[in-house]
Amino acid sequence: MPVVVIIVIIIGIIAAVLLLRQTTGRPRVTDHWHARYQVVVCGEPQPSISFETSPELGVHTHGDGLIHIHPNSTDDEGKNANLGRFLARSGADAGGRKVNEGLTFERGLLRLPDGREFRDGNPCPDGQPGEVRLLVGRTPNIGSPELCTDYKENDKFGRYAPREGGSENKLDGDCIRMEFGPPGATPAPGTPSPTPGAAATSSPTASPAPSPAPTPAR
Ligand SMILES: [Zn+2]
Ligand SMILES: [Zn+2]
Repeated sequence: MPVVVIIVIIIGIIAAVLLLRQTTGRPRVTDHWHARYQVVVCGEPQPSISFETSPELGVHTHGDGLIHIHPNSTDDEGKNANLGRFLARSGADAGGRKVNEGLTFERGLLRLPDGREFRDGNPCPDGQPGEVRLLVGRTPNIGSPELCTDYKENDKFGRYAPREGGSENKLDGDCIRMEFGPPGATPAPGTPSPTPGAAATSSPTASPAPSPAPTPAR
């Protein structure tokens, strides 16, 4: 085999490896991006984690309602920089000291740091059975929760790795909702405070109104 051919093959392999790393490897050690997250129970937004969690796994919060993603090692790059890693240390502070039970979010189960537990089929205050769901939307500005739109259901739960892109700095962009509520309810805008008057059918009302027909998704 001519030497030129061998060189071309070697260059091709190196290029393929680099390309593969580029397309599957982000976030990488030098990256730093953010996703907004919110926990919603029967239409009621819950408080976000108020303290700084351990940055050890590269996926953590600084108590600001954001998931910060800056991998420290190749171990927490790419698909490993996922929600599961965020949740794993959600009850411990930056020094690893336990603050509370943390947040559990998996298929069929949402458990809040205060111990309240919600499982698929449990009723919301209005009597409708709820379901644990992951919804992922996008925002052009991570600092503005009200700009989170285009929520779509995602079945990866803890394996979901926030995506890059979408906002002005080209890295931040995901709005993540960990939710328990009636299936098919239209997600309210991702504001941190309750939003009465939103189209969601799960808004608790004082009147003993019969449950209306499900609102079609917009
Ligand atoms: Zn950050
Ligand atoms: Zn950080």
